[in-house]
Amino acid sequence: MRTDHGAAPLAWNRVHRYRQRVLDIERGLDSLPDSAGSVLPRGFGHSYGDSCLNAGNTLLDTRGLNRVLSFDAHTGVLHCEAGVTIGEVQRHATPHGWRLAVSPSTGLASVAGCVAHDAHGRNHPRAGSFGHHLLEIELLRGDGPHRCGPDTDAPLFRATIGGLGLTGLITTATLQLRRVQSSFLQVETHAHTDLPGLLDHLDTTAGRAEHATAWLDMTDRQKFRGLLELGDEGPGERSLPPQGPRPRVPFDLPRWCVNRPAAQAFNRTWFRFGARKQPGPVDYRTYLYQMDSLGDWNRLLGRRGFYQYHFLLPAAAVRTGLPRLLDAVRRSDNLVVLAILKRYGPATAPGMMSFPFHGLGGAFDFVNRGGRTLRLFHELDVLLAELGGRVYLAKDSALDPDRFRLMYPQWTAFSEFVDPRFSSSLWRRVTGEHR
Ligand SMILES: Cc1cc2nc3c(=O)[nH]c(=O)nc-3n(C[C@H](O)[C@H](O)[C@H](O)COP(=O)(O)OP(=O)(O)OC[C@H]3O[C@@H](n4cnc5c(N)ncnc54)[C@H](O)[C@@H]3O)c2cc1C
Repeated sequence: MRTDHGAAPLAWNRVHRYRQRVLDIERGLDSLPDSAGSVLPRGFGHSYGDSCLNAGNTLLDTRGLNRVLSFDAHTGVLHCEAGVTIGEVQRHATPHGWRLAVSPSTGLASVAGCVAHDAHGRNHPRAGSFGHHLLEIELLRGDGPHRCGPDTDAPLFRATIGGLGLTGLITTATLQLRRVQSSFLQVETHAHTDLPGLLDHLDTTAGRAEHATAWLDMTDRQKFRGLLELGDEGPGERSLPPQGPRPRVPFDLPRWCVNRPAAQAFNRTWFRFGARKQPGPVDYRTYLYQMDSLGDWNRLLGRRGFYQYHFLLPAAAVRTGLPRLLDAVRRSDNLVVLAILKRYGPATAPGMMSFPFHGLGGAFDFVNRGGRTLRLFHELDVLLAELGGRVYLAKDSALDPDRFRLMYPQWTAFSEFVDPRFSSSLWRRVTGEHR
């Protein structure tokens, strides 16, 4: 029933290499397994930073909890085990005219992982975050099983949404899906050559188009290149042919390949290709999960791994704050290979520690240049905290306790719900606790 895995589990950014004990969790468990030290649930390790790691302690691997338990094609209510992937939920429901209301940009994350980070998609202004569509969860804590929802043990429910896996092991989740016409979205792309123009366009479409993301070329200091991609539900077939095996990156790219000229060439090609794209229907798998089409793409960024800086600025601070953040990145001489901006709507967050609030967010992938990159992140964290912003803990690897307290002042109230048997590398880092 339980296994110690040999290989060290990594986070998606492949930076942290820790010794951890791994126990496979199987269905039917009614008490937590014994362990020396703390435990942390883990899904597919698709969090970029150390929120899915528990250095020197135990990970509870939930990938075996992989069954959809029931689905009502009339109401769109789906009940599943914690380790079912987002992609599996979509495959199950789409032929019946339902899809997840909110999805991250990967179909390879687990449902429980998306609860634990209260994941958001490109449609936050319209649909809110993952927790807004969660009806119930079953949770295993040190004192036994709990069932909670918006009207049943609501404080524990709110703490578990965005609760970083620290309030207990989610064993099942019940989700309300949303009606869709087909498996296709109508997608259009607009090219921009200045940042204010791109932001204006993003502002006017936020809430009108279902999905919106902006892409920036951060490799060129002279010339601005941006693309705004909009997607709306569209007509078409519901059933899609199954996807064949996807190509995988078989090894870590050597360090000398991951450099500025290569990143510039990639970004310029991406811009040229995007600027010429004609509007048209795109199947939801290609549109929502573009990055999944190349397996293990994170190995392209070299053996030292990479960092993502995922931030959110309050709406009132965007026009003054964003240029300051971008300027700090450019001055630092770090290399950003991919940069995305998204709008976040004013909906009240469903979880105590949820990331989203009303504003504009950015997710920038940095090549790992060690101390130089971490020094920049510290500078950005200081500036972001001053502007009233925060970083997304699913992607973080560098936030210090002082900035954490400023960005997530609700953490003390949240820590009342942390189960004493649970901890993570991220939690010890941001709270400064050593448990
Ligand atoms: C290519 C890519 C694109 C992404 N795009 C987005 C995006 O658009 N929006 C977004 O919000 N996120 C995005 N993410 C982040 C991802 O959605 C989250 O990190 C998600 O939590 C990953 O799920 P996982 O199953 O891999 O969980 P893991 O990374 O293994 O764990 C994440 C957290 O969930 C907890 N957890 C896992 N299982 C359980 C359980 N059974 N019970 C309790 N806690 C549990 C863990 O303890 C940990 O704190 C993206 C990630 C990738 C790799």
